[in-house]
Amino acid sequence: MSSTDSSGPAATPDAPAAPVPPAAPADGGRHRVVVIGSGFGGLFGTKALKRSDVDVTMVARTTHHLFQPLLYQVATGILSEGEIAPPTREILARQRNATVLLGEVTEVDLEQRTVTSHVLGRENVSHYDSLLVAAGAGQSYFGNDQFAEFAPGMKSVDDALELRGRIFGAFELAELGAHRGEDVDHLLTFVVVGAGPTGVEMAGQIAELAHRTLKRDFKAINSRSARVILVDAAAQVLPPFGRKLGLWTKERLEKLGVEVMLGAMVTDVDERGLEVRFKDGRVERIRAVTKVWAAGVQASPIARTLSDQTGAPLDRAGRIAVNPDLTLPGHPEVFVVGDMIDLDHLPGVAQVAIQGAKYAAKEIDGRLKGKPAQKPFKYFDKGSMATISRFNAVATIGKVRLSGFIAWLMWLAVHLVYITGFKNRITAVLHWFVSFLGRGRSERTATEQQIFARSALNRLRGGATDLVSAPGEYDAETERSRREELESQAAEESRLTDAGERGVKVAS
Ligand SMILES: Cc1cc2nc3c(=O)[nH]c(=O)nc-3n(C[C@H](O)[C@H](O)[C@H](O)COP(=O)(O)OP(=O)(O)OC[C@H]3O[C@@H](n4cnc5c(N)ncnc54)[C@H](O)[C@@H]3O)c2cc1C
Repeated sequence: MSSTDSSGPAATPDAPAAPVPPAAPADGGRHRVVVIGSGFGGLFGTKALKRSDVDVTMVARTTHHLFQPLLYQVATGILSEGEIAPPTREILARQRNATVLLGEVTEVDLEQRTVTSHVLGRENVSHYDSLLVAAGAGQSYFGNDQFAEFAPGMKSVDDALELRGRIFGAFELAELGAHRGEDVDHLLTFVVVGAGPTGVEMAGQIAELAHRTLKRDFKAINSRSARVILVDAAAQVLPPFGRKLGLWTKERLEKLGVEVMLGAMVTDVDERGLEVRFKDGRVERIRAVTKVWAAGVQASPIARTLSDQTGAPLDRAGRIAVNPDLTLPGHPEVFVVGDMIDLDHLPGVAQVAIQGAKYAAKEIDGRLKGKPAQKPFKYFDKGSMATISRFNAVATIGKVRLSGFIAWLMWLAVHLVYITGFKNRITAVLHWFVSFLGRGRSERTATEQQIFARSALNRLRGGATDLVSAPGEYDAETERSRREELESQAAEESRLTDAGERGVKVAS
């Protein structure tokens, strides 16, 4: 077990703990709960406090709640981003005790009990009596963050839309190149790094796209000749599903036309391809413009802030060790849930976040009512599943292992239940009909901005904040010098393009 010692009165499995007195609001008003994040932990925690005598403030850096398990369908044109990312404000509109605030949390002060957040140069400080931290995890490039520019991850709506643009854009560039008689193999090669559920789903969908959806759309290229390669350093696909389902999945993927490269460690990624090293030391370069990174997670940096202030250790993925009741050592008023925690080897799945958040909400409510502390948090594993292609999935529920159509039907039912909002469920079903029974994809629209805007923003020192004036002030001198800087950067970009040093090299 990887939890820390509790210095709060958390319960042990043997003896229920004494009630923890709730922290009293400094201003004598209602108990204030601040929730960080609008993902599974944040949203379900906020909803679970609906009937409690508290004021809840949810601070999140996006205005939506994201259903991450279906991001790959947004990236491959099956679903729209709105269907999997409804506005948090709309979901919570009827919850009278909940307020939603946009902002990236940059600081949590456990002594002062404040959460500081920023958005476009505006700072906000929220005071809390109880805190629920559910800031999730981001992509990990295992210390090679420079890979991110060339191989986007699959964690956000931005990631999915950028990938959609890159995938469909690669076919367009290949058509153009082939029309001009150029070599387009590097454009028609798609590499997915990481053979966990996300990687498997992504590789399967790109293969179906190339072999079914696009097969009649192009004249100069044959989309069915596209290579889809799934790379992983591990010896099997889907390790958490066991050897048998792993082998079954690999065979299915290969039938779909996916090349599965196992025992292959990615050692370098650049604009035109990537390098993999096999266990026997052999190194191979794969020429591929489109790469997807679906390997590795890194907990939100907020975990480090909390660790620095409490001494709670972080594991290699930056997850923070919490007490068995999900609180921080010495801070019974602070709960951390979901992908950020290191407790009992719990997996990074939605149910861990949902159940943890509900547990924390119940504890906050119970304290206010003077109830004894609950028993330590216990995760109830409802099973895992991953789709491979239309009509094919694998699932584990307890000791039961399922594969094929039955598992796919289960996948369909479970995902329908968890998509937020009636309207989204209806439109998702319609889109699935279009894609799984027919061969179309309703959401193929992609724009240049989707592909390039993030890189452009990253080149600005302060990101999007550089493009707006600070609230209440306009500094013409700063704008002039910034504009000059941007213009000279743009001139350099254009020089690189003219000199043929940027972009996809045209074969001579
Ligand atoms: C592509 C993909 C597929 C997946 N498939 C499955 C699946 O099939 N089944 C399954 O059970 N699980 C799946 N998961 C995992 C599951 O989505 C996570 O375990 C779950 O989302 C964790 O919930 P959370 O609340 O901890 O974090 P999240 O849901 O990630 O929420 C974190 C929230 O915090 C916000 N945030 C982060 N940092 C800050 C900050 N500094 N300031 C303010 N807000 C911040 C984010 O914007 C977000 O709203 C998948 C994940 C991914 C990425």
